Parts: sequence; C-alpha cells; structure tokens
Amino acid sequence: MSDPAREGVARVAERSAAGPSGSVDLDLPLDAHLHTDLSPDSDVPIDVYAALAVEHGVDELAITDHLDLDPRGPSYAYADFATRERAVREAAARWADRVAIRFGVEITYQRRYEADIRTHLARHPYDYTIGSVHAIVGSPYDPARLPRFVDGRTLEEAVAPYFDQVLGAIRSGLFDTLGHLDYVKRWLAPYHPPAAFAAAPELYASALPALVETGMTLEVNTSALRQAAHESYPAPWVAGRYRELGGQRVTVGSDAHRRHSFGSGLADGYGIVVRAGFDRLWIRRGAEAADVAIPPGHGPNGSRVPSL
Ligand SMILES: [Zn+2]
Ligand SMILES: [Zn+2]
Repeated sequence: MSDPAREGVARVAERSAAGPSGSVDLDLPLDAHLHTDLSPDSDVPIDVYAALAVEHGVDELAITDHLDLDPRGPSYAYADFATRERAVREAAARWADRVAIRFGVEITYQRRYEADIRTHLARHPYDYTIGSVHAIVGSPYDPARLPRFVDGRTLEEAVAPYFDQVLGAIRSGLFDTLGHLDYVKRWLAPYHPPAAFAAAPELYASALPALVETGMTLEVNTSALRQAAHESYPAPWVAGRYRELGGQRVTVGSDAHRRHSFGSGLADGYGIVVRAGFDRLWIRRGAEAADVAIPPGHGPNGSRVPSL
C-alpha cells in the first residue's frame, strides 16, 4: 500500500543526500500562507510541501488555498469546501508526527461580497482565515484596465480604491489576518516604485490604526521578494510603524504557489518582524489562538540563516 507522504519524504531525502547542500534545518517554526493544487494558480500537491517542511525544519504550515465569492473570480467554485477540507485534514493526519498542517483559506475580500463571505464563514469552519484584496475582473487593477486607470492619477489616487477595500476587510471583522497589506505595490510597480510608497507613509494612515484597533493580525508576506516589488508586503518600515501604533499580532507567510518557492523569503520575513519589535508569530488553530515564539537568531542584525 503506497503512502504518498512517506514517498515524498523518501524522494526529498534522496535528493538531499545527492545534492551539494543536503538537508538544512532553518529553525522556522511557521509558514502561515501556502497554496496547493487546489488553488487555480498553484500546481503543488500538499504532500510536496509537507515533505519540504520536514526536510527544512518548518514545523507548522497553514494551507490557505484561494476562495473567491465573486463568480467572476478564478477561485469561485474551483475546489469546493469539502474537497479542500478533506485534502488538508487527511494530509494533516498523514503527517501529524512530523509537521503540523492547518486548514486555512485566503478569501478575496470585496465590499460587495461581504455578506456572502460572512455566510460562507459562518457555515464552514476553518482553522485559520486570511482576507486579501486581489485584482480580479472588474477591479481597476485588472491588467486589462490598469494602464487607463493609472493614467493621470497621482499615487494617492491610484491606491485609493485598493486601500478602501483593505479597510473594508479590516473593519469587517471576518478574518484572522490581513493578507499582503500593500499588494497594490505589485500592480503599480511599473508606474510607482516601492520607494514612492515609502515616501508617502500617509497611504497607510487608515489601514494601520484600523488593524491595531480591531486586533486583526498583520501578515508580512514574503512573496514580493521574488516579484517585481522586491520588498515584502508590507515593507519593513510599515511593520515597524504598526508596532509603534500598538499593533500586537503579526505573522509571516511565503505565499508559495510553486514547489521551488517553498519557504521563499521566510527567514527574511522573520527578520523583518523581529526588527519591528516582535518576538512571536500569531496563528489560529481552530478553537485555539496560538503564539509561536521566534527562535533566537532571526534579528536584529539580520537572519542567521539564508532564505530557502
Ligand atoms: Zn493573495
Ligand atoms: Zn496567497
């Protein structure tokens, strides 16, 4: 009887033994944002992530496949709740003695679908929920509409619809964590570089106090370190500002969609939150809210370990 989990381990172990670097324990207790092949933009079977986590010493994974409530969204009815729940919970059972796997979700927040999101979450129990703003059809950030939208608009005007949705996500109280706070940097990069955001801290003047007030968790999303923006979502200074304002809860996620992105930038993300003044990451595990201590060595002078 074949056990895909154990086969995954065997394959990874074989590769490590043959490779120049071997297995590396990076002492990273949590990656709170990962997509599997149950997201339309990922092709990674969950057991591949689990095997990589075992190989690299990542103790806990939150699987957060996409869900759109807008029928125009790519993750509307892509994989139904029962399919996603079964895949993750069965993998969690297979790997229970080696890595903890949480059943999460990343829901695209849109004000006009807030009631549908609320209904969905009331009926479907997840271990952990991320609310994120994405550029789906109809959004001004839809690639087909973006050039015309940004033309003649200042940076402040260009980000306004995005941050309005972000504020809605925070104020909705629906989610544990806000995903990639300033993801709009990615779409606007050809027009407004990340440095323009750093020069305009007022862009964050509504979102950060709202996060602090509501107690919603700020995610430092390290996918940007492999994309055009080349800095985390949000940038380190924004995480520091959140802390200064009284922010209590942060977490770190790689937002991996491909196997080669597993753990990507995670160590950098840990360094960012440590330098912002945090010593633990937050995750919900169903009924239990948990603090995960960041091991020593991830700051303040940079990470002791290389990024995967
Ligand atoms: Zn996202
Ligand atoms: Zn994601």
